[in-house]
Amino acid sequence: MAGRGFRVVVAGAGVSGLFMAETLKHAHVDFAVYEKAGEVGGTWRDNTFPGLFVDVLSRQYEFPFQPNYGWSRKYAPASEIWAYIKRVARDRGLAKFIRFNEEIVAARFTDGLWHIETAKGTTDVADVFVCATGFLHKPLLPDIAGRDRFAGPSFHSSRWDHTVPYAGKRWGVIGSGASGVQITEALAWAGCDVTQFIRRAQWVHIRDNPHSTWRERLKLRLPGGYRREQRRLWQLINESDHWRLKPGPLREAMEREYRSFLDYIKDPELKEKLTPDYNLGCTRIPKSDKNYYEAVQLPNAHIVKGQIDHIEPDGVVMADGTRVELDVLVYATGFDPHAYMRPMNVTGLNGVTIDEAWREKIYSYGGIALPGFPNLFMLYGPFSPVNNVPVPLGLEQEIGCIMRLIAEARGRGRAAAPTVAATEKFLARLGAAFPGTVWVGGCKNWYTSDQPTPVLWPLPQEAHKGFFEEVPLEDFQFTPTGPRE
Ligand SMILES: Cc1cc2nc3c(=O)[nH]c(=O)nc-3n(C[C@H](O)[C@H](O)[C@H](O)COP(=O)(O)OP(=O)(O)OC[C@H]3O[C@@H](n4cnc5c(N)ncnc54)[C@H](O)[C@@H]3O)c2cc1C
Repeated sequence: MAGRGFRVVVAGAGVSGLFMAETLKHAHVDFAVYEKAGEVGGTWRDNTFPGLFVDVLSRQYEFPFQPNYGWSRKYAPASEIWAYIKRVARDRGLAKFIRFNEEIVAARFTDGLWHIETAKGTTDVADVFVCATGFLHKPLLPDIAGRDRFAGPSFHSSRWDHTVPYAGKRWGVIGSGASGVQITEALAWAGCDVTQFIRRAQWVHIRDNPHSTWRERLKLRLPGGYRREQRRLWQLINESDHWRLKPGPLREAMEREYRSFLDYIKDPELKEKLTPDYNLGCTRIPKSDKNYYEAVQLPNAHIVKGQIDHIEPDGVVMADGTRVELDVLVYATGFDPHAYMRPMNVTGLNGVTIDEAWREKIYSYGGIALPGFPNLFMLYGPFSPVNNVPVPLGLEQEIGCIMRLIAEARGRGRAAAPTVAATEKFLARLGAAFPGTVWVGGCKNWYTSDQPTPVLWPLPQEAHKGFFEEVPLEDFQFTPTGPRE
């Protein structure tokens, strides 16, 4: 380690890790990325279920440093997003910095440096440790009696078994979130016999998803065209997130529009089952490109609402005794949204672990840092905008700030961590913004889960940009880094 220069280790090679890697490469910082899987892409690598499309405009899901002029549709299919991410990694020469199939299991801050350990026993040492481990990557399976006894194929939606043929099978899909809706819709239109088990109805966005035209593509390639269009998109975001944040005519108009989608359902009993009893936007809104409400009215599609009592080898039994026979069971039951980098064992100053720090509640400073964990940064950590700001845009703002903090810490020969007071001030600011937003008011959502408030960004996107542009250095403490060997 003698003479070793300043070094950054990044965990994860999804959208966040790759964005960070490209930025570090560009800044000529020595770094390595550890990725537990054998390929880049994170979410878009793992989720290959039928019917998955991106829920923001494809063009909002671009790295700012790599325009894509060729999206096939307004909202691209997941396979296209994944192909784009892989292309970015290839074109930017990022693969040589990534150590695939290396899961980081522990990171400990001692003597002013991060000591990293992987599941294979590899060790590494870094001045800065960046967790780009995602906020929806740890699948949640439901605690239903008999789950292990199901005789046919069964899998979580993020582990789709492509060896199972669609045809001639009775499919069960457990879950009414975005994945459950998209899978049910896709299987129903594919002619499969599919039963979706829901506990409560979701608001579903029935949207058009046209192919992009050559005119649209050409417009982007004209001089100044891409920038102009990009500016227009960001303007759209600024205008469109306000209905979630405060009550008023915009929200009422949105609610009217979503209620009108339910009119696609002809059968009053089915309509009743699929009518939500909570405010629009409280949960992440599933997007439907092929009209979910029409799909579930096909003779081969069924909605069963209620509590599942148990699973048997050949089906599901509801609490009211209804029995549904099945050949394949899909768990569209979501992810542990508050795992973040865990189960990784992260230890900061004075031997305090991340589990201890977050025992009572999840918190962070700006979604990027934690008091007591110097030079530990997170991308899309707690209270990042997981709803009203497209992920790449949020990353641009977070990474810009992290790079400034890294430069400052490096310049001082120290390690940066937010103060407790600054973190509390940040959390209080967010806490004060929740009343009146769509995320509060008694409805259950994964943003909140077992936490006292939803763990997301409850302010406009401009405020997110503003926050990161103005992060004061006084909000940070600079811990001495120990002598290098
Ligand atoms: C089904 C689904 C659909 C979604 N659709 C949308 C959408 O339409 N629009 C949108 O904006 N967002 C969507 N999201 C959110 C999506 O997760 C983000 O947009 C984005 O992909 C997050 O990127 P990430 O790199 O932060 O995390 P991830 O994509 O989760 O990547 C994290 C990476 O870190 C790796 N990793 C984790 N732990 C370790 C470790 N200990 N050591 C080494 N590597 C590790 C993982 O293998 C993974 O490759 C969706 C999420 C899901 C699950």
